[in-house]
Amino acid sequence: MAISFDHSYARDLPGTFLRVPPDVAPAPRLLVLNRPLADRLGLALTEDEARAWFSGAELPPGADPIAQAYAGHQFGGFSPQLGDGRAHLLGEVVTSGGRFDIQLKGSGRTPFSRGGDGKAAIGPMLREYLISEFMAAAGVPTTRSLAVVATGEEIWRETKLPGAVLARVAASHLRVGTFQFFAARGEQDKVKALADYAIARHYPDLAQAENPYLAFLDAVIARQARLIAEWMGLGFIHGVMNTDNMAISGETIDYGPCAFMEGYAPGTVFSSIDHQGRYAYANQPLILGWNLARLAEALLPLLDPSQDKAIEIANDRLTGIAPRYRAEWLSVMRRKLGLLGEDDRDAALADDVMTAMEGADWTLTFRRLSDEAALRPLFDDFTRMEAWLPRWRARAGEGAAQRVAAANPAVIPRNHKVEEALTAATEGDMAPFHALLTAIQSPFVEAEPYTLPAPTGFGQYVTFCGT
Ligand code: AMP
Ligand code: MG
Repeated sequence: MAISFDHSYARDLPGTFLRVPPDVAPAPRLLVLNRPLADRLGLALTEDEARAWFSGAELPPGADPIAQAYAGHQFGGFSPQLGDGRAHLLGEVVTSGGRFDIQLKGSGRTPFSRGGDGKAAIGPMLREYLISEFMAAAGVPTTRSLAVVATGEEIWRETKLPGAVLARVAASHLRVGTFQFFAARGEQDKVKALADYAIARHYPDLAQAENPYLAFLDAVIARQARLIAEWMGLGFIHGVMNTDNMAISGETIDYGPCAFMEGYAPGTVFSSIDHQGRYAYANQPLILGWNLARLAEALLPLLDPSQDKAIEIANDRLTGIAPRYRAEWLSVMRRKLGLLGEDDRDAALADDVMTAMEGADWTLTFRRLSDEAALRPLFDDFTRMEAWLPRWRARAGEGAAQRVAAANPAVIPRNHKVEEALTAATEGDMAPFHALLTAIQSPFVEAEPYTLPAPTGFGQYVTFCGT
């Protein structure tokens, strides 16, 4: 088949990327192909085509591979030049559902690679596949995974590991850091061109607004506030919420050291390098505001010709982020608690369940709210929960059990199951990966053993970046 690629990014935004081909994989082997997603993109691929095209072994006809420039604040410090150091955007596919980037990740060095090898190992690419597909199944905006192909190459991490390429599908790869890259260089014309492009691609209605750039900032704030509220509802910890990992589209992007919390503890961190807990579970809403402040800074000259006025406008918007997030979070919590309508006491009910459930399994506590016999064993000390439950029952009323079951997943990609699947895959056995994938693709269906918390012997879970 032929993929009819478009290249609006390269066409409309000259000087924001470099043309560079992916590496040629020596002995590609298709590990997983997302057939339903390929169908939705109108790609009637054969497995041979998927293997060749999504590994870099062959370029699909019409592809025009580029590496995009971006900067980013990493753990609070500004890196003026990051960019696609191991990714190649092949082009865009336009469907009735929108325009989508098709990008290879782990596909070789680019001029943005700095010291890196441009490669990726099988484990982390399958991990992104699993977690992004779970997020999609749970209804959270996310980039998608189209395929993972083992390259037949060995790459060097702490030990030798089999290499792989992920084919990723995204509404776009525009990041907060994309705007920062050009703002930091004083290239205002490019910041404006990027903003115009982002508005046309993601927020076309805003082009008519009185101040389209201010409306754009508002729209990104709204989508990101909603997104982080959804993450919090699932107990998701992104792990590396740097500004280069925050997408303008409002999709979750760049699954690195991310993981789902099991026992609820606000300070939970999994990433091996996050020593200060900057990206801890409960800190994510604060980082949301911090990152969006960096976007506002990059957009300042577009907000008003007077710098003082622009700063005043931006500050006003930034002040609104915390209450906006709080409203989104409350709406997510109303859904999780099976509450219909709105009541003034809902915020207290939601806040109080968080206190009452500390230490208990995040996912199963919500899932089992209406079944006290199943709920009780999740707690070492049930006293506070026992006091909270009658308030919840009185407010939630009839049909709460069904609403809770529809809103709260039974299955999440639990860390011990993810590790088991990735370890087996690295050793050549894909069966545990496929079994886990099947379970997490229907997250609202009970599926033991995937529903069960990690055995106590699993211990403290640690995740790693950029591998
Ligand atoms: P990430 O931690 O995946 O968000 O990546 C941060 C930056 O490091 C981006 O510019 C990546 O392209 C780059 N990077 C990560 N891993 C590698 C690698 N193995 N080789 C080259 N660049 C990399
Ligand atoms: Mg990244």
